[in-house]
Amino acid sequence: MYQTTYHKGQSLDQVRKLHAELPEPSYISGGFTLIPAMKNRLAAPENLIDLRALPELRGITRDGDRLRIGAASCHAEVAGSPEVAQSIPALALLADSIGDMQVRHMGTIGGSVANNDPAADYPAAVLALGATIITDQREIAAHDFFTGMYATDLAEGEIILRIDFPVPRSAGYAKLRNPASKYAIAASFVARGSDGSVRVAVTGAGEDGVFRWFDAEQALADRFETASVEALQPDPGMMLSDLHGSAEYRAALVKVMTARAVDAQGSVDIC
Ligand SMILES: Cc1cc2nc3c(=O)[nH]c(=O)nc-3n(C[C@H](O)[C@H](O)[C@H](O)COP(=O)(O)OP(=O)(O)OC[C@H]3O[C@@H](n4cnc5c(N)ncnc54)[C@H](O)[C@@H]3O)c2cc1C
Repeated sequence: MYQTTYHKGQSLDQVRKLHAELPEPSYISGGFTLIPAMKNRLAAPENLIDLRALPELRGITRDGDRLRIGAASCHAEVAGSPEVAQSIPALALLADSIGDMQVRHMGTIGGSVANNDPAADYPAAVLALGATIITDQREIAAHDFFTGMYATDLAEGEIILRIDFPVPRSAGYAKLRNPASKYAIAASFVARGSDGSVRVAVTGAGEDGVFRWFDAEQALADRFETASVEALQPDPGMMLSDLHGSAEYRAALVKVMTARAVDAQGSVDIC
């Protein structure tokens, strides 16, 4: 690793000032993406600014029909939160399916969403649930936030404070995971909004990262049952092809995982 200086964030003003003034800065939360990237020399920040202790990024609360999750909440906190379990059980179970115990106790929801790994779990839930990303500068709707593989709408130095989820009527998640890392080879999050709308978001399979499968949304809005999905054929041209699976295999998985997520409303189906 290259030489780097660690700064423990004390306040929002202080971290913003450090980020603006120091050379080659990077925010860090759990470090479970950034530190491996530094070890592999894919990133070399001169200054690491730790966001985890900032009170604005902490806490999980239910406020009417919104569930608010602080960006510095680690996956284990989301998995173990009674507010999450009561409001969106599939989200708590999704968090519990991430990586291993070390990853779940260090990795954060804010770090995962900011990183937008094409195989990460949270982006599918954030997109399917129509969540809002609250930053220190503005509010960003999920459908505007994820802009491509490892890319988001965040500006340089912008900080995710929390993510607000509208509480759905029901939601389910199904994932075929990589047995080593537990990242999704293909996974689908299916949410029914309180207004009856249906959203389907797929992770792990898309050539450009997380995406909404609009054909499935339309079919499920007409009839919310697995047969509606089984009649569809996802386009392999949109799918990722790598050592874990071809584009054709992933297209088949998208259909299977989406049908399973329909069956798993209120729960998850991890295989
Ligand atoms: C072995 C292993 C297995 C894993 N398995 C899975 C898995 O199954 N599913 C899954 O989804 N993920 C998995 N992960 C990824 C893990 O969940 C990461 O922790 C997560 O993706 C990044 O969160 P972090 O808090 O560690 O972010 P960091 O590594 O600290 O930061 C990542 C990026 O986000 C930025 N950032 C961090 N917080 C903020 C913020 N609040 N505002 C703005 N920018 C911010 C940082 O500057 C950096 O660019 C795995 C990781 C490892 C090492």
